[in-house]
Amino acid sequence: MTSTIHTVPIGGPTLAQELKLVTEVPGPRSREILARKNAAVPRGVGINVPVFVVAAGGGVLVDVDGNSLIDLGSGIAVTGVGNAAPSVVAAVAAQAAQFTHTCFTITGYEGYVEVAEALNRLVPGDFEKRTALFNSGAEAVENAVKIARSYTGRQAIIAFDHAYHGRTNLTMALTAKSMPYKSGFGPFAPEVYRAQMSYPYRDGGVSGAEAARRAISQIEKQVGAANTAAILIEPIQGEGGFVVPADGFLPALAAWANDNDVVLILDEVQTGFARTGDMFASEHEGVIGDLVVTAKGIAGGLPLSAVTGRAEIMDAPHVGGLGGTYAGNPIACAAAIAAIASFEQDGLVERAREIGVLLRDRLSGLASKDPRIGDVRGRGAMVAIELVDPVTGDPDAALTSRIAAACHAAGAVVLTAGTYGNVIRFLPPLTISDDLLDTGLDIVAAALAAK
Ligand SMILES: *Cc1c(COP(=O)(O)O)cnc(C)c1O
Repeated sequence: MTSTIHTVPIGGPTLAQELKLVTEVPGPRSREILARKNAAVPRGVGINVPVFVVAAGGGVLVDVDGNSLIDLGSGIAVTGVGNAAPSVVAAVAAQAAQFTHTCFTITGYEGYVEVAEALNRLVPGDFEKRTALFNSGAEAVENAVKIARSYTGRQAIIAFDHAYHGRTNLTMALTAKSMPYKSGFGPFAPEVYRAQMSYPYRDGGVSGAEAARRAISQIEKQVGAANTAAILIEPIQGEGGFVVPADGFLPALAAWANDNDVVLILDEVQTGFARTGDMFASEHEGVIGDLVVTAKGIAGGLPLSAVTGRAEIMDAPHVGGLGGTYAGNPIACAAAIAAIASFEQDGLVERAREIGVLLRDRLSGLASKDPRIGDVRGRGAMVAIELVDPVTGDPDAALTSRIAAACHAAGAVVLTAGTYGNVIRFLPPLTISDDLLDTGLDIVAAALAAK
């Protein structure tokens, strides 16, 4: 395999939309770079599918060996508008040629304000809003907590079982799962309390309203509304295994928060930007967050995140209390403006629904013939299967790893998830073709049949 510069394909939609394996996966060039990676990068920074990418777009990732892999993960729900989406690339190039940085809190620029205006318009809630920009999802979650505490004068934050909110110190405390996210990294931030989630598949048929009563009772007994600054929740849990709470759970929590002057923070980092077939997952049940945290899909792959919410809450922190050197970087803002235009104008919300129908049809078909698939769940282009022992119903993490590995070897980049490590999740770019998605699901079917 050669890898001279002129053989490197151009990204975006000019890439052939095909599964093509010209070596084993990973191929010899990737294995060479992996050896260098292992010598240069700590093992804590793992790589799920150890191929090294040179181009990506539509629904494919092309590696240094010339393999064209099917992307069923979007780099964890980031490249919803497509990888190297042409309008994002053009916006990034134009902005980079003008200026790359000023630090928004030193001298401003219009792009930041434009992204804030767009989010204030798009995030649900018929009230005056403000948006502050940051770099990562975790950083935005931390800032949402700062803002809620500043506004309420209270300290306690309620997070849920199976929650994932990031890897910084406060967000590790907010995240439920120890391995790999927290183990050995304590002590963690105080005043974080955990309530029981609604997890229909493992909940014995507890309704959304009942699950909410259960969680609210825990909060009232163990923390007290008067001490609670915020409830922080993912409308559909991401890393936790695409746990979709039973209908009525989120609205009941929202009503309790509202009645008790508790700030409702919706973490839409993974679910946001058309992913679930609505612009935001909370729209499905008409739940309005006081603060909404976004990141991942917001800027077509550039690092950007945001907290959007009620003006009076957002304006609680003093001047200078919010910011960061790179927060709302001008290139990331230019990318976000282009990405948001694409979400709104290219029919990507509808496309997410179509992808959802295709995913669910195929996966439900597999589940009907394979009792190891205990559950097919999710919404829009965010769908997962939970793999279990058909006799006991116990989570089968080993099977999950084998199937994921088989998919990777056959050229489909799938991601796993779940508190019990037994979930395979599908988050394809919304620019993937039906054909390619079908081929990707053929690979999943074959992996299930073989394992
Ligand atoms: C990924 C994720 C985060 C953290 O985002 P980073 O950009 O990785 O810091 C927070 N919340 C949810 C729901 C996520 O999926």
